[in-house]
Amino acid sequence: MPYTITLIPGDGIGEEISSAAKRVIEATGVKIEWDIQEAGLNAIEKYKDPLPQSVIDSIARTKVALKGPLTTPIGTGFRSVNVALRKEFELYSNLRPAKSFRGIKSRYENIDMVIVRENTEEFYSGIEHYVDAKRSAAETIGIVTRTGSERILRFAFEYARKYRRRKVTVVHKANILKYTSGLFLDIGRTISKDYPEIEMNDKIIDNMAMQMVINPHQFDVVVTTNLFGDILSDLASGLVGGLGVAPGANLGYDAAIFEAVHGSAPDIAGKKIANPSAIILASAMMLEHIGEKEAARRIENSVAKVIEVGAKVTKDLNAEHFVTTDEMADAIIENL
Ligand code: NAD
Repeated sequence: MPYTITLIPGDGIGEEISSAAKRVIEATGVKIEWDIQEAGLNAIEKYKDPLPQSVIDSIARTKVALKGPLTTPIGTGFRSVNVALRKEFELYSNLRPAKSFRGIKSRYENIDMVIVRENTEEFYSGIEHYVDAKRSAAETIGIVTRTGSERILRFAFEYARKYRRRKVTVVHKANILKYTSGLFLDIGRTISKDYPEIEMNDKIIDNMAMQMVINPHQFDVVVTTNLFGDILSDLASGLVGGLGVAPGANLGYDAAIFEAVHGSAPDIAGKKIANPSAIILASAMMLEHIGEKEAARRIENSVAKVIEVGAKVTKDLNAEHFVTTDEMADAIIENL
């Protein structure tokens, strides 16, 4: 029986990288029946709705989706479809690993950290408004709940236990945001007591940003609230070669959506130079999630090999000798 999985190709570079990922997954031999759904800019053009009900119905049915990036207008326009999907399916955990690849020239080697970002609360709740018609001020409300904090902190410690990680760092701003960040930190300290074999420490977000740049090897699993996690995961990807190699998973109780950390990259859309590795690595996370561990490992190893050899990589990884998105995917398929 094939798996049924929702595929949202996305916009910007979405089509280019998602079709590459689809080909790589199919080349592993895992049989998948794709339910292809449009969202974001493409859906507005076709259906006048960035998140048609059919997308929600599809994920509710399949429980698993592979998603290309979706553009969110800056400052005005419709609300983020990415955020809406995470809220709709209560995908409370955003798992974003950052791992060094041999062959990528970056400041550090042997980085292996995982950012666990709370994915549904705080400043992404979308509770904001202008105080008057003249827009003299704007207000946003960031709600951090005990339930929301407990489940993500528990997830981080359980993840550390399952994958034999040594340390969990709780990142916060409890010196200033004494209630919201304070609650998150308190709960982190309490939950850590159930995991005596795992070292727990905490860092204030500003110091954390500096420490990640100066000495990233001290970090293993990092757990934090929504906005900090979003920023730190881009920072982490910058330490290992950039957004082109950073995958992510949005996990809930019942459904999961896999995607790259990066966005729709309008600056390079249509040029066939986008690196497909991030969404291909997200596909490996997806295959692991559905129980196809061997196929997942084959994809990860193949991506690592192609990057290490460096002859068939995209422009972000080798600005002098580079291939197209599809050619890099072909190399990954050849090395499976
Ligand atoms: P971005 O991640 O799209 O791009 C940042 C930089 O990284 C750009 O220079 C881009 O060219 C480069 N880049 C990104 N992916 C790459 C790849 N695969 N290969 C090579 N280079 C790559 O961030 P942005 O420009 O700030 O955002 C563009 C749009 O994407 C916005 O509308 C934003 O809201 C949206 N976005 C969506 C998601 C998502 O779908 N989950 C995530 C982040 C941003």
